[in-house]
Amino acid sequence: MLVMGKLFGTDGVRGVVNEELTPELTLKLGLSIGTFFGEHSRILVGRDARVGGEMLMFSLIAGLLSAGVKVSIAYPRGYAPTPAIQYAVKELGYDGGIIVTASHNPPNYNGIKVVNAIGIELDRESEKAIEEIYFSERFHRSKWSSIIHDTTIEPRVIDSYIKSIIDHIDKQTVRSREFRVLVDCGNSVSSLTTPTLLRELGVKPYTVGCDISPHPYRELEPNPSTLSQSALIVKQLGLDLGVGHDGDADRAIFIDETGEVWWGDRTGSILSSYIAEKKLADLPRRIYTAVSSSKVVVDYLSQFNIEVAWTPVGSIYISYNLLNKGGIAGFEENGGFIYPPHLLARDGAMTTALLLELLAVEKKKPSQIFSQVPRMYSVKTKIPMPREASQKIVKKLVNLYSDTSYRVITIDGLRVETEDSWFLIRPSGTEPVLRIMVEAYSKEKAKKLTNSLIEEVRRLISDET
Ligand code: MG
Repeated sequence: MLVMGKLFGTDGVRGVVNEELTPELTLKLGLSIGTFFGEHSRILVGRDARVGGEMLMFSLIAGLLSAGVKVSIAYPRGYAPTPAIQYAVKELGYDGGIIVTASHNPPNYNGIKVVNAIGIELDRESEKAIEEIYFSERFHRSKWSSIIHDTTIEPRVIDSYIKSIIDHIDKQTVRSREFRVLVDCGNSVSSLTTPTLLRELGVKPYTVGCDISPHPYRELEPNPSTLSQSALIVKQLGLDLGVGHDGDADRAIFIDETGEVWWGDRTGSILSSYIAEKKLADLPRRIYTAVSSSKVVVDYLSQFNIEVAWTPVGSIYISYNLLNKGGIAGFEENGGFIYPPHLLARDGAMTTALLLELLAVEKKKPSQIFSQVPRMYSVKTKIPMPREASQKIVKKLVNLYSDTSYRVITIDGLRVETEDSWFLIRPSGTEPVLRIMVEAYSKEKAKKLTNSLIEEVRRLISDET
């Protein structure tokens, strides 16, 4: 959803292909990004498997070339997971990277993500600088005699990325277990990486949707509903584990051997305690997670003396906190997990390799590992309303709850924690809705709390009118 005078949202530029996100727009955006990075800078470009990816990538490249940028395209044809591009930018010495992707969004969407020389998404100030160039049209156009004549192909993206992941993993121990693992690529770019990674770790991959297609067999957000077929296969074939990725493969959502699908904040908690004990014992015992993560994160990680630092929703906040303040990991409930020694960005394949190592070292089944995290029941709902209206409602609710004895966090919307429940109410960054997330240690309590919150919001709306 593009807003007037603004291009970048929570996670790059996103829009419906050929309606909001046209080749004319990406041409101008390419010129703006090229102007921002400067003539002769080296930019690596890649994309996921979405419709319109090639069209948008080439118009973007035309803009970059006009600004005098040296452009390399990831082999093959730009296809690569977002984290593979991010890793290649950092490792192969590019000045920046651009990924044409709309991650997990519906199939009619595409988008543009820009990363800096260390492979992290640009900070908000840099995004604003690019927007200013775009809207003022103060483009730098290269002199005809110094226009870069040809783009080059970068063949090392996939291999160097897989190699780095393996270098961070206890390969021998994983190999010894002879795991059989289902991987659901959603017909996108993880097809190029996760099955190969598994084979190199001595794991036998069972693949679903691991051929690249602009018309994926399922929705690209990995969750219990979109992974239901894969979950059934894991259970019926008696496989050790299943993993589902989103469109650009920076997320991993896991299926245990019983066919149960686990959210990323559960996986993140389990992996963080393992990493703190066995892999990064010298780093500060701190993790970063968005306010949309469950209270179980704190309830579980406090046993290991690991501090939980909350961030606004958007993985960029987690990346920059890890960069500036340090910590052992960062994660989101949607399946994004960051392992700093490899890359300061979410990475679906790295997360999969780490979980396999944990399972191999601990010699336990995934269901046993996941059941160590307390079980909470969740309800997610949304109330349609314009963004300004939902911001007003959240402000009023913050005032109402600030005087209570509950633990209140207001860095992004309103998050309230009690002994046996928590909830988050925030205006969506991508849709005109107010999002409500509730979790409680009993199903009844979760439902009751959700209903009372909806009622409270309705009352506030009627007070307004
Ligand atoms: Mg993604």
